Amino acid sequence: MKIYLDNAATTQLDTAVFKAMTPYLLEHYGNPSSHHAHGREAKLAIENARATIARLINASPEEIIFTSGGTEADNTAILSTIRVQQIKNVITTPLEHHAVLHLLENLEKQGEIKLNYLTINKQGEIDLAELEQLLKNNGRSLVSVMHANNEIGNLNDIDAIGELCERYDAVFHTDTVQTIGHYRHDLQKLKAHFIASSAHKFHGPKGVGFLYCRKGTGLTKLLHGGSQERQLRAGTENIHGIIGLATALEIAYQDIDAHQTYIQNLKNRLIAKLTEQIPGVSFNGNSAIADKSLYTVLSVNLPFTDVNLLSYLDQQGVSVSGGSACSTGSASHVLKALNNGASGYTIRFSFSKFNTAQEIDFTVAALAAVYRSVAA
Ligand code: PLP
Repeated sequence: MKIYLDNAATTQLDTAVFKAMTPYLLEHYGNPSSHHAHGREAKLAIENARATIARLINASPEEIIFTSGGTEADNTAILSTIRVQQIKNVITTPLEHHAVLHLLENLEKQGEIKLNYLTINKQGEIDLAELEQLLKNNGRSLVSVMHANNEIGNLNDIDAIGELCERYDAVFHTDTVQTIGHYRHDLQKLKAHFIASSAHKFHGPKGVGFLYCRKGTGLTKLLHGGSQERQLRAGTENIHGIIGLATALEIAYQDIDAHQTYIQNLKNRLIAKLTEQIPGVSFNGNSAIADKSLYTVLSVNLPFTDVNLLSYLDQQGVSVSGGSACSTGSASHVLKALNNGASGYTIRFSFSKFNTAQEIDFTVAALAAVYRSVAA
């Protein structure tokens, strides 16, 4: 049996997405910059995809810029704000993805920005009162706070953060890579200037995503060359990827409520069975709290230190991710920042619509067997 429980890393391509993509590899292969029929056909397909995405997130097509994924979208948003708007003060959290953190650390090192980290508690929560103080006491700021954390699943209240940013005239970028395609986003309500997305997190292809940039915010290009994406992102477009991205988002939105319920039930089942069968198990951050975490992610702290659980599960055919703040394994900056005193072995389980209750039960049985052998 092969079980894939690492859907926060990447997801299986949906067959319907694959089917929508293939004609753009085999038949409609024109370059969208060409003025002949083949080119015009390709260009039209890209603009249709842009319109689809804009409609689904209640934005305008000109606010969508196609990128190579989440990393490029995050980098473009942050660098644009700093370079175009000359903002020097940046507020973020220690739990951001490296696509945000490593860029900001680098910019701080170069002396381009002053970086402020919001304090997080042992649950990984930020304090909006602290954010307000920082916004009040510093000059015009860029706030970069993710919607949901990819390791522990914590959800941040981006509606409230957006309101605060608007009150203090700050630019708000939120990394929505783990939530686009899993939650509804309405850019007429959300007060964000930038959001980032990556197709492979919601059953689309790898290497393609988009940046939403609110009209009038100002963008700078990272890549220089051709005039694609209204001069904002040079390079021949990844047409089949863009078609896959739009199709995957459309499919995700069609069944979003049913998937949420189905996947949340799988997560609840894993929480209940682990709690019942493995005394001492705990959950990192707000991972086990339904309305405070991604329904697709469960970060579990298992009370074993002497067993390499990742390898063990791999041998059993179960693919999951690790991450540990203790000395074994590679230290995760997120678990380290939580500093919650958990001393066991952390595993991140992440689910999709393709997982089943039987897979959850098999995985728990495998872990319970380790518990029994350690306890014996
Ligand atoms: N941001 C978050 C929260 C992520 O989980 C990821 C991918 O793991 C990224 C950004 C980077 O996205 P990509 O791999 O598409 O560049």
